[in-house]
Amino acid sequence: MNANLPAQARIVIVGGGAVGCGVAHALAEAGFADILLLERANDVGEVTTSQGAGLCGQPRDSVERVKLAMRSVAIFRELQRDPDVKPDWHEVGSVRVALSEKRAQEFHHLKKIADEAGLETALIDQTEASRRWPLMDFTQTKAILWCASDGYMTPRCVVKAYQHRSSKLGVRFATSVAVEGIICQDGRVTAVKTDRGTVACELVINAAGAHAHHIAKLVGLDLPIVPVRHEYYITVPMDGLTPDLPCFRIPELTLYGRVRDQGLLLGGWEPNSLHTDPREYGLSTTPPDIKPDWPVLDSFTEKILPFFPTAKSAGVKTVGKGWPTFTPDGRFIIGESSRVKGFVMAGGCNAHGISGSAGIGSLLVQSLRDRNPSDYVKSLSPDRFTETSWTWADASRQAKAVYETYYGV
Ligand SMILES: Cc1cc2nc3c(=O)[nH]c(=O)nc-3n(C[C@H](O)[C@H](O)[C@H](O)COP(=O)(O)OP(=O)(O)OC[C@H]3O[C@@H](n4cnc5c(N)ncnc54)[C@H](O)[C@@H]3O)c2cc1C
Repeated sequence: MNANLPAQARIVIVGGGAVGCGVAHALAEAGFADILLLERANDVGEVTTSQGAGLCGQPRDSVERVKLAMRSVAIFRELQRDPDVKPDWHEVGSVRVALSEKRAQEFHHLKKIADEAGLETALIDQTEASRRWPLMDFTQTKAILWCASDGYMTPRCVVKAYQHRSSKLGVRFATSVAVEGIICQDGRVTAVKTDRGTVACELVINAAGAHAHHIAKLVGLDLPIVPVRHEYYITVPMDGLTPDLPCFRIPELTLYGRVRDQGLLLGGWEPNSLHTDPREYGLSTTPPDIKPDWPVLDSFTEKILPFFPTAKSAGVKTVGKGWPTFTPDGRFIIGESSRVKGFVMAGGCNAHGISGSAGIGSLLVQSLRDRNPSDYVKSLSPDRFTETSWTWADASRQAKAVYETYYGV
């Protein structure tokens, strides 16, 4: 839809990345009607989502977070069955490698949580791991956690699959439309103002990624949504790298990877991360440009060499980079603000907004529908930041720490 905007819609979603499109899909599947998604770029999934590495890992440190990721996998699997538009979901499994006894203990703990959540995982030996990833050297490892239902997708395909399915369910998508204001009356949202006209609505869902802070500001809410730089590279095609090889994570080296286009996709969490303050760019501008940081990217290569020696000689074909957003407590921000009725958050993705997208959508539905949502859903409310006092200095420091300890024990 690129001609005239409708004069009204019951629900307006701002932002067509993985989160906005995942939310549109979840709402439509749950029977919500009259939904309009507004995206400023000329297509959905063009901003942070297009840069995603596409990994989806389910073993996490709490039952709720495991279930959220499991929900996403269930939806990716279902969308993959669509005859026309697929998320390019590859359920290849994942190996997570421990290099110390302390980390091995953590894997036992992760396995216990996975068991409790109903996620199948197994601790496998080096022989089994080598059978699954023949080019990887596992001799230094102390434990290996295998999750058969983990995998990877193509982020742009995921948003297209959400769009395809939710359009069939009646969701309208309008691209090249920038939201510029939100009108409220008596503490309640009544309309959004865009560069193409005003749309009256009852609910505005803020899924604007690195601009979610600015969209919240339009209704007077200050939310600590901190963009932190993240990068990976993809090598030129290498012998033996086939698309069925599992994803891998080596938490002690803060590395993750998978095969992409027959090359090695290798990413990592930096110990001295670089963040940007969302107050330093505006709603109509973008966060600073990112140039590939070769010392950081080369450090990933140095770290992987004992496990994958051929990485040294492989040329780099592409660098993925962007500003995923982090929150000071490492949790998503999901749900309606009690301060501004009808203003609903879906952001602060802590760098798993694509793998988490369907789960985020499902939690958002719960938050809107259940009179008494679960404690987990309540813990994600934007109120935890708008009804307490905090400072940007602390919030940025904590959000950076969440990034830097992404694989912390
Ligand atoms: C290098 C890298 C690797 C990553 N790897 C993974 C991974 O393997 N797995 C994973 O799950 N996650 C990964 N992530 C994180 C993931 O990319 C993000 O969590 C996710 O894309 C966030 O989605 P989003 O929809 O919130 O943001 P975005 O994709 O940025 O979407 C927000 C949208 O809002 C739109 N918008 C903003 N302002 C307005 C406005 N005023 N009006 C209308 N529209 C507006 C923007 O144009 C944009 O399209 C990675 C990120 C990076 C940078």
